[in-house]
Amino acid sequence: MTLVPYPPDAVRRYREAGLWGTATIATEFHRVARAHPDRDAVVALEGRLTFAELDARTDLLAAGLAGLGLRPGDPVLFQVTNRLDSVVTWYGVLKAGLVPVATLAAHRGHEIGEISRRVGAVAHLVEAGLRGFDLVGFAEEQRRGHPTLRHVLVVGDDPRGHSLAALGGDTDPAEARALVEKIQAGIDPDDVAVHQLSGGTTGVPKVIPRLHAEYWYNGAEYARSWGWTAETRVAHLIPIIHNAGIVCAVHAPHSVGACLVLGTPDLDESLPLLAREAATHVLIGHGHYRAVDHPDFDAATKAVTQIVLSGAKVPPALFEALEARGLWSGQLFGMGEGLFLTTRPGAPREARLTTVGTPLSPLDEVRILEPGSETDVADGEVGELCARGPYTLHGYYDAPEHNARAFTADGFYRTGDLAAYGRIEGQRYVSIEGRIKDLINRGGEKINTEEVELLLLRHPRVAAAAVVPMPDPRLGERTCAYVVVDGAELTLPEVQEHFAALEVAKFKWPERIEHLPEIPRTLVGKTDKKRLAADIARKVSTS
Ligand code: AMP
Repeated sequence: MTLVPYPPDAVRRYREAGLWGTATIATEFHRVARAHPDRDAVVALEGRLTFAELDARTDLLAAGLAGLGLRPGDPVLFQVTNRLDSVVTWYGVLKAGLVPVATLAAHRGHEIGEISRRVGAVAHLVEAGLRGFDLVGFAEEQRRGHPTLRHVLVVGDDPRGHSLAALGGDTDPAEARALVEKIQAGIDPDDVAVHQLSGGTTGVPKVIPRLHAEYWYNGAEYARSWGWTAETRVAHLIPIIHNAGIVCAVHAPHSVGACLVLGTPDLDESLPLLAREAATHVLIGHGHYRAVDHPDFDAATKAVTQIVLSGAKVPPALFEALEARGLWSGQLFGMGEGLFLTTRPGAPREARLTTVGTPLSPLDEVRILEPGSETDVADGEVGELCARGPYTLHGYYDAPEHNARAFTADGFYRTGDLAAYGRIEGQRYVSIEGRIKDLINRGGEKINTEEVELLLLRHPRVAAAAVVPMPDPRLGERTCAYVVVDGAELTLPEVQEHFAALEVAKFKWPERIEHLPEIPRTLVGKTDKKRLAADIARKVSTS
């Protein structure tokens, strides 16, 4: 089965509790836009749109997309950065009933080829004029020899694809609205709305189907949990077409009529935007944990009342630096597969400093299990974080073998993260204590070590390979590859050339190569990655 549905009794419970709605994401957005027409919906570096403007513009875009022959359910690959038009296309694509696939602008042939075939992508949406890489030319190449990929859609100007700015421009607004309503009326709110990607645990990235009702609920509950209102101004600096971007910065603020202040990862251009637009809430991913030292940070956070830190353990020095400036901070643990944990307003200082808090939804169920078992560990002990609930998946798309391992018998998703329950002021909070899944978290981008090892083995002189995280002060982790080679040692540029030739996204390329006569094994014959990770950590710390 390609799509694993939520169990019907769970769906009934989520609806009876008022968590899941009965409308599609596009319809939910339209309702909010009608209620808050003149408020800012998005402010980005290129410009701004009110809810009424964004609603009208995305109706026209949807009509244009339908006019190209795109049909409800058709998957559309997204490769765009944080721009005003990225938010416009997000809702335009949803209004046309199409299914955004949250691929990254950094992905290349290796990833796009695999993912687009897996989901049967029909259109490829790319950004023109990206510095350093011609995404439009890349999309044209991908289309060749790909049976389903029919359209190249372009954000920005480029004659080689359909420019989204022009699309639908000559449609009558009332006709466009009627068409969108007709399309949306034909979509079941429990159908797939969006495909997110997982860092996964083995092989290529897994596809996470997100459904209209549960995905919108995820965002709406996030907004509620922080106490947001239509006055809130939510800043976001990390990639928007990621799960955290869509949930925390697009759907969540829009569920309450609040504004998204959309920056980019470049603090020099984004912090002044936050200052100008009086952002009140900002999510800081761990690649930006040093933002407090930026000369524009204080001005950028003048109106900020909530800072959310996410992606890796929070260094006490950062928490204290924020506190010294009078800034309240909390933490977020989130994943494309669903489960969110947050330390919300009211959480004691110690919980905000040392834990990721409590589950977002009252109907979330969290268990911490002995890895590989279905036995709960005692409070205070470390085990695998497992979850079931109103926005956590029941199966990856088209991955039956992996699904058989990724869930407990009663449908709890095994996150691969290690966690412990602790008690602070009488309440249980979850802390993250590492992970058992074999991946590298490079400034928030997840890199599958097995995927990188298989790519290394395709080099004619690599006989064996083991890939481990290498500590890095800025990104948290980078990729280090231990290899056994035939003949002379391989240089890093040689290895990188090999990855370039295989069209692998650059963030996955090994950043350090270590040579070994053989790969060390544990007593049971598995690659001894602990030993290798400790080896590289020692080398990095003493270099
Ligand atoms: P993604 O699906 O790309 O958002 O990645 C989700 C993964 O990021 C989780 O399974 C964790 O491994 C990691 N992660 C997210 N938030 C945190 C956090 N606050 N602390 C530690 N790891 C985190």
